[in-house]
Amino acid sequence: MRKPKLKARQGPTAKPARNRRSAEQMLVELKRCLREISDLTAAGDILTWDQATYMPRGGADARARQCAALYGLAHEQAVAPALGKLLDALAHYGERLPRDSDDASLIRVARRDFQKMIKIPPDHVTRANAHGSASYNTWTRARPANDFAAMVPYLERTLDLSREYSSYFAPYKHVADPHIDDADEGMSTASIRKLFSELKSQLVPMVGAICERPVADDSSLRQAFPKAAQFEFALNLAQRLGYDFNRGRLDLTHHPFSTRFSSGDVRITSHVSENNLGDVLFSTLHEAGHAMYEQGVSATLDGTPLGKGVSAGIHESQSRLWENVIGRSRDFWEHFYPSLQRVFPEQLGSVPITVFHRAINKVARSIIRTDADEVTYNLHVMLRFNLELQLLEGRLGVKDLPEAWRAAMRAHLDVAPDDDRDGCLQDVHWYSGYIGGRFQSYAIGNILSAQFYGAALQAHLDIPREIARGEFSTLHTWLRDNVYQHGSKFAPNDLIERVTDAAMSMTPYLGYLREKYAALYWLPGSLSAR
Ligand code: ZN
Repeated sequence: MRKPKLKARQGPTAKPARNRRSAEQMLVELKRCLREISDLTAAGDILTWDQATYMPRGGADARARQCAALYGLAHEQAVAPALGKLLDALAHYGERLPRDSDDASLIRVARRDFQKMIKIPPDHVTRANAHGSASYNTWTRARPANDFAAMVPYLERTLDLSREYSSYFAPYKHVADPHIDDADEGMSTASIRKLFSELKSQLVPMVGAICERPVADDSSLRQAFPKAAQFEFALNLAQRLGYDFNRGRLDLTHHPFSTRFSSGDVRITSHVSENNLGDVLFSTLHEAGHAMYEQGVSATLDGTPLGKGVSAGIHESQSRLWENVIGRSRDFWEHFYPSLQRVFPEQLGSVPITVFHRAINKVARSIIRTDADEVTYNLHVMLRFNLELQLLEGRLGVKDLPEAWRAAMRAHLDVAPDDDRDGCLQDVHWYSGYIGGRFQSYAIGNILSAQFYGAALQAHLDIPREIARGEFSTLHTWLRDNVYQHGSKFAPNDLIERVTDAAMSMTPYLGYLREKYAALYWLPGSLSAR
């Protein structure tokens, strides 16, 4: 999902294919090459994980160099002409294998990745990476200082680089298409525009109806909770869901993430804040969802391009499923709330479960995307998606972004930030990489979380009752068998069809939101007629 963050160099490293080698021998050679690329990338990822968790601040400069060296070697091998020849030589063999077989999928996916990668000139990769680092460093100071002017020259250059990136994939229908396809293969500006306009027309009245009701009281979550006990509780939750600590670990960081080094080592990070219990609970459930996906990919795909989750949107569907559909459900807390109360008797001992459940599902028109509830969240995503398109199309100048942001916030959510720090400077995405394709995956993930869960329920009606007993193995096993194990073998749209017998659809998601929030906000019937 990340684009090559690499310093490219010239020249092949793999040996040219010898004549008259059998297809089987070439396949062994292909897997060896791909494993080496995967190992170099994983070594870089371990250094990146360390940087975000334990590295002392003084290590930053050397670490940037070390990562660039490893990712550079990986990239050098990933675009080596010898690898291209090997893939071409195997193409015909792959087409004769059953399409669903591991080897056919491997040849197909590795060849597509290679053909995509060699379209990007090495000097573009070098320039884009150097610019991304400089822009990110400036943003880390500009955001707290509310200094958008400092970011204007960076963003203008980012926009040029983003268009330049797209140009390598011309002809395209829309300049954002290559970026969107990188994150969510098979999607395009047109398909997402259509999806979002439909979703918006349903969500806006839903948010309106909920916001007319009394605001949920979430003060119970905002008391002082000792950090060590919060961390311990969240760790226990991740373990209970099925996140395997023999093949993973949980550490603290500022911006939580999960990362895979191999099928035997998939780590998560979380964040604890003393005065917001929801922070550690839901960031841990979210990252555990991502990590269980990676832990569940068949070990036979390890070290190949198939050995990881297939797209940003599908990945997000797995994190959202555990975080929201399960982790914010009444069934889930029927089981876990009594133990949470025992850990925090002073804070929660006298708070009834109904109050706690409403608190963790509070809906409000808010300013910050990452703090948004699951009903308004998609509106934050759509706003960013539209601004990305306008910037890329040249209809919006970088200098005018802060005002366009405020106007869009008022139009989408009826609130506007007081300053740029909580406005267009709030997300790291545009300040550390390209503009384009950066946000739609979050909404796709929300939509798919309900569609996948609906399919699991069809197969096993008992899942909610099991969840209320703190048991997750039926759901986890179903997800592993149907989604996780395939890694990147099937294209996202094919996987969705295969698992749910339907193309991506908003119906399950809207049904889920209506049912849940009509009950929480005492709106019987009023959300269901639309
Ligand atoms: Zn996520």
